Formats: sequence, structure tokens, C-alpha cells
Amino acid sequence: MHCTACGQVLNLGARFCSNCGQPASTPAWVSPPAQRLVRPIYGRMLAGVCAGVAQHFGWDVTPVRLIVLVVVLCGFGSPLIAYIVAWIVIPNEPLGVPYATPAPPGPPSCHP
Ligand SMILES: [Zn+2]
Repeated sequence: MHCTACGQVLNLGARFCSNCGQPASTPAWVSPPAQRLVRPIYGRMLAGVCAGVAQHFGWDVTPVRLIVLVVVLCGFGSPLIAYIVAWIVIPNEPLGVPYATPAPPGPPSCHP
């Protein structure tokens, strides 16, 4: 691991550069991309906000949806606005990561 500012070699786990004091960059493996709050392409019911939140915190999506539904149906407008805001703010799950669906049956391979 190297300092992003001066290139000084940092000890593993160091939080700041001992040379220039720059905060050490977090290695990519500490926060895998799956932990980002995104709206999954698959498994969404409306906009994927509930599914994204449940996936981000490791919850089951069903109680999250029920809680959101009950809160919205209780007559308060703000949860609905919050949902729409979350819909706009939370990005879609990046495409090209089709781990959630099996590969479609393609043409036969070149093997005899
Ligand atoms: Zn440095």
C-alpha cells in the first residue's frame, strides 16, 4: 500500500501517511462494491428502493416492504416523498453484473 499523495510505503492498516499525513486510501477489498446502496435490477417490485435498502443492510426485503407500505398507508405523505427521493438519489445497480440470473441458453459451443 502506498500513499496516494507522496508515494510513501504505508504499513498495512495505517490510517495516515507517516511522511505527509495524508489519510491512507481504503483498499478496495475493505468495502466490496456490493455494499453500495443501489437499486437492484432484479428482485425489485416498484423502483427497487426497498430491495436495495434490504440488500444493503442484509435484511429480508419482505418486512422492509411491509413497513414501508404500512407507513405510507397510515396517511402520512412524507414517506411517499422519501421513497420518490430515494428512487431518484439511489443509483441503479450497474449493468453487466448478471449474477442474479442464470445465463440464457445460447447456441451450442464449438465443442464436438
Ligand atoms: Zn504521503
